Amino acid sequence: MQKRQSNRQVWRRNAPHLIAGLSAEAAAHICMNQCKGMCCRGSLVLLLTGREAHEFNEHAAMLGVPLLMTPTPDGGSWVKFSEHPGEHCPMLDSSTSICRIYDDRPERCRDFPVDLTPGCAISGG
Ligand code: SF4
Ligand code: SF4
Repeated sequence: MQKRQSNRQVWRRNAPHLIAGLSAEAAAHICMNQCKGMCCRGSLVLLLTGREAHEFNEHAAMLGVPLLMTPTPDGGSWVKFSEHPGEHCPMLDSSTSICRIYDDRPERCRDFPVDLTPGCAISGG
């Protein structure tokens, strides 16, 4: 019987050039200049752990940006982009499409994209 492939395995098979050859600089160029941070905008919700929510609060206070977070039962929070000015993540500089907390960005942002994602050039979608 053939073993079922995970989405990530399918993605790696379909877009090996993106996994193997894409430099951080090229990825940044695609994200900032071509895509303009689509995954940080619109009707998306970012889930944060308790520690990340605490850090998000500190960053927001330092940057002077409004932040609305809703607590989750597991002690974390979620941030709904559409509840914020410009309908994007409060940490996104919308004019440059740069994440203002890039070095401290949450785990979910670091992991994205995990699969082939429609509209995400980095994933080959
Ligand atoms: S959707 Fe993909 S290409 Fe666009 S900013 Fe996010 S990771 Fe980069
Ligand atoms: S924290 Fe940074 S990478 Fe994550 S959604 Fe916000 S702007 Fe995007």
